Amino acid sequence: MKHQQLNQRKNAATPRGVGVMCNWFVNRAENATLWDEEGNSWIDFAAGIAVLNTGHRHPKIVAAVEKQLQAFTHTAYQVVPYESYVALAERINDLAPIEGPAKTTFFTTGAEAVENAVKIARAHTGRSGVITFTAAFHGRTLMTMAMTGKVAPYKRDFGPMPASVFHARYPSEQHGVSVDEAMASIDQLFSCDIAPEQVAAIVLEPIQGEGGFRPAPTEFMTRLRALCDQHGILMIADEVQSGFARTGKLFAMEHHPQVKADLITMAKSLAGGLPLSGVCGRAEVMDAPAPGGLGGTYAGHPLAIASAHAVLDVIQEEKLCERAEHLGQHLREVLHLAKARNPAIADIRGVGSMIAVEFCDPQSGAPEKALCAAIQQRAMEAGLLLLTCGQHGNVIRFLYPLTIPDAQFQQAMEILSHVLTAE
Ligand code: PMP
Repeated sequence: MKHQQLNQRKNAATPRGVGVMCNWFVNRAENATLWDEEGNSWIDFAAGIAVLNTGHRHPKIVAAVEKQLQAFTHTAYQVVPYESYVALAERINDLAPIEGPAKTTFFTTGAEAVENAVKIARAHTGRSGVITFTAAFHGRTLMTMAMTGKVAPYKRDFGPMPASVFHARYPSEQHGVSVDEAMASIDQLFSCDIAPEQVAAIVLEPIQGEGGFRPAPTEFMTRLRALCDQHGILMIADEVQSGFARTGKLFAMEHHPQVKADLITMAKSLAGGLPLSGVCGRAEVMDAPAPGGLGGTYAGHPLAIASAHAVLDVIQEEKLCERAEHLGQHLREVLHLAKARNPAIADIRGVGSMIAVEFCDPQSGAPEKALCAAIQQRAMEAGLLLLTCGQHGNVIRFLYPLTIPDAQFQQAMEILSHVLTAE
């Protein structure tokens, strides 16, 4: 009853353009559990879209934010700086897989980090072009919308797009694009659309998030790096979704130790539920924009910075990279058992705990969006909150907090195997 009234108020007061998945409203949350306004509880495998690798309201994070709340909440770093911002930059510089000395600056949202990475790349190279990939997701602001490789619902109705953004093909064996073909699509851009010496950056998600949890093969990363070096193009890794232990490493780029990005964007699980994003990169590249060119009123907000320090502590103390591997292994076993009973499960893929399952018609191979939505709905009815993704919306992705208790994870696995194999 309460939810019905809330939905009526929501629909009257807020625009439909913010598509809302759940028809219930949250009341409180702890670790991997959500409670709604009518007293039901849910196992949260959405984690605020990949934000809560350390769970809801981790006690150490709450304590860190409360402590900061008592000291000061806002000065605008670019007006009055605070040590915690510098200390977080120092920590990220030590941890991020960047070649040589690194520098980091903070913003608020993932899209803002990507926008600023492009600005930094343009300032450093003096070039304008940006190459991204099919099915990529980089955000909803004008530039990041243009960089996103999916028209509906992100770009339709919102054009014209900013200039100088081009899409190459993202390699994915499952979707019929080999590494050779992906590389050839960049060559094609160089001959049809933009000269390589006018390209500032190639931006890619080392594991596509919204695009369906598709990992880029190491061969592709290596060849892309060589191409960037050949033409003086910067490589930007968008780790907004893949960062902070989800893949079993702090950054997904660490799965390709021979390949180093020039810049890495991060957000989401960086600050455990408070809005914070960042760009880390080679110091000389990061220093390209002149003073005043970067920043923002709330960029690197003190509460979010305090939270991020606690997140990094928790990831280390609770060995969340190892835990991502362990939980991911368990989930994979459950999914493979289900695949033996459900021929519509076309692919199980991912790295660490960044895992997804794709549904296709076993005869035609066509994407099964409706089946995927039905499975998501059945899971919701059984108390398990799941998110979908993929260019065709036929993929379920798993984003549970890595701090989830074993017994609750087991309970979720039982619901999952039931809904994946139910007639
Ligand atoms: N990049 C990637 C890889 C993302 O997954 C997202 C969000 N899903 C963004 C950028 C945009 O982040 P935000 O919604 O915080 O602007």
